[in-house]
Amino acid sequence: EMQDVPAIAEAMHARGGTVVMDNTWATPLLFPPHERGVDLAVEAGTKYLSGGSDLLLGLVSANAKHYPALKRTYEHFAPCAGPEDIFLGLRGLRTMGLRLREHGARGLAMAEWFQARPEVLRVLHPGLPDDPGHAIWKRDFSGASGLFGVILKPVSEAALAAFLDGLELFGMGFSWGGFESLVIPFDPTVYRTATRWQPGGPALRFHIGLEDPEDLKADLEAGFARVAAVG
Ligand SMILES: *Cc1c(COP(=O)(O)O)cnc(C)c1O
Repeated sequence: EMQDVPAIAEAMHARGGTVVMDNTWATPLLFPPHERGVDLAVEAGTKYLSGGSDLLLGLVSANAKHYPALKRTYEHFAPCAGPEDIFLGLRGLRTMGLRLREHGARGLAMAEWFQARPEVLRVLHPGLPDDPGHAIWKRDFSGASGLFGVILKPVSEAALAAFLDGLELFGMGFSWGGFESLVIPFDPTVYRTATRWQPGGPALRFHIGLEDPEDLKADLEAGFARVAAVG
């Protein structure tokens, strides 16, 4: 789901506030936060930076106005990342652009594939022309990463469990951005405050990795067959 970041930044700055954004989904390669009005941007370095789900790093950047405060805070807290994590992060940076492009293309193709499935109610991917966030995404972003949501038509809990538990290529995990595809059920009801979350069916978050897309589709098709069998 897209937010109108330039509009949020403008409204916030008019009131003297500071805009902080989590830019993990797009990375600075697909969304330059400071050019869009963001003062401080945070990124999970655990995701596309590494590409291997194998390091612990976080990143913060600031525009010129807020950089002195960020630098001061950094010096006071003196956080030190591990040398091996930094090595892996630097190595990952060299291939990050290429990997991200591939995750994005495969993710959009899989989103379109899901959209055509009879078991699917709705796909949440801003790259789809009928997505409510498509216009904002086209204006502000230069691409999509491999993470998106799928709302299934209502099924029993047992059928959903059969779908998820039997998948062979999709691990169930939170730390997306690596070469492996992931799925995780999600329910934002408890932390969503501005609008009510009424998806109309079970919500699944997918990350599309670098496996053969045909293998991923076969895995998911087998999952949908299990759903039909359980009912
Ligand atoms: C994963 C994630 C984080 C935090 O990642 P860690 O791996 O816990 O450092 C922060 N923001 C978003 C949007 C994420 O997806």
